[in-house]
Amino acid sequence: MAGETHTQPTDLVTLRDVSATYPGADTPALNGMDLAVTEGEFLAILGPSGSGKTTALRVIAGFERIQSGEIHINGNLVAAPNRHVDPERRRVGMVFQDYALFPHLTVADNVAFGLAKSNGSSDARVGAVLDLVNLAGYENRYPHELSGGQQQRIALARSLAPEPVALLLDEPFSNLDRQLRSTLRRQVREIVKDHGTTSILVTHDREEALGIADRVAVMDEGRVIQVGAPEHLYRNSATADVARMVGPADTVRGRIAGPWVDTEAGRFRYHSPTGPLGNGTFVDAVLRVHDLELGPWEAEGAERIVDYREYQGEFTEYGIRLPSGRRINVRRRSIAPLDMGTKVIITAPFDRPVLVYPETPRG
Ligand code: ADP
Repeated sequence: MAGETHTQPTDLVTLRDVSATYPGADTPALNGMDLAVTEGEFLAILGPSGSGKTTALRVIAGFERIQSGEIHINGNLVAAPNRHVDPERRRVGMVFQDYALFPHLTVADNVAFGLAKSNGSSDARVGAVLDLVNLAGYENRYPHELSGGQQQRIALARSLAPEPVALLLDEPFSNLDRQLRSTLRRQVREIVKDHGTTSILVTHDREEALGIADRVAVMDEGRVIQVGAPEHLYRNSATADVARMVGPADTVRGRIAGPWVDTEAGRFRYHSPTGPLGNGTFVDAVLRVHDLELGPWEAEGAERIVDYREYQGEFTEYGIRLPSGRRINVRRRSIAPLDMGTKVIITAPFDRPVLVYPETPRG
């Protein structure tokens, strides 16, 4: 009955209006979640703690049941209120934060663990996936003889060995130090892209999500609020919450005046992702720490003053006190540093207008 399915042929994993509540919980962990992951795609799910990211992976993997909606993997209905295909029959691989390698097994035995015992080609397959993760020759080592990054690559090799239709990665880099994290995430992206495996990465780290995913799905309160290519998400964030999630920012009240938005931080060029706004409309203006320009300002008028300064090497982060006493943050190259107490003007460059959203009622 192919004609009746709504799934596009290229969608490999789809969640349609999925809700899931843990036993005894008052609020659902997933609340009408929709998501379609395309074959071969690397998709990241980004969201604050408690937004349902891990639960989304767990219902896809089959570790949790759903109370409403449908999940399809590779064209098969695997979850619905009256249907639950077991995790082992979904052919989905998982990589966790804590590697979950068996300490008493060699690398080769760890990788072979998920392969069918009867399969005589398992040695060849182990060799091939170790090659893929650049750890050929490590077959006889034990996990404790490897670095954290190497252990995570073994965990990845183990997940890829049985040729899963999709790979689910649950915060796989968060136990590693910053430097290693950025190296490993690049390697992981290259490995799964080379291998062509559809992958879903859960993370609360925006740099990670924007940096390695083809598309990012932003979750909040158990559902996806926006999904798109990283740059689209950054420039056209659907809501102020999404905007803050994809780039550090302060939100100030503003009012539309022609091509400008007037705020107590200054007058800025703006972009309104939700559509045109009339003159005089009150808005929430999202001032991104990395996207503003700052300079000394001698003229009379509203005062914005440097009252905090943090040297970070190439960049310096400034705290600017606004007329109301609030402080916002602006990051600027460290050349010609501004002294504490300097009166400044804040502007938005032509190519990075301030994002504005019709004002939400304040409680
Ligand atoms: P995230 O991964 O985005 O941090 P989770 O999917 O872990 O979010 O959690 C979503 C919601 O479900 C949270 O409110 C959390 O407290 C709740 N939750 C998660 N796991 C359980 C569990 N085993 N039992 C009850 N509630 C849970």
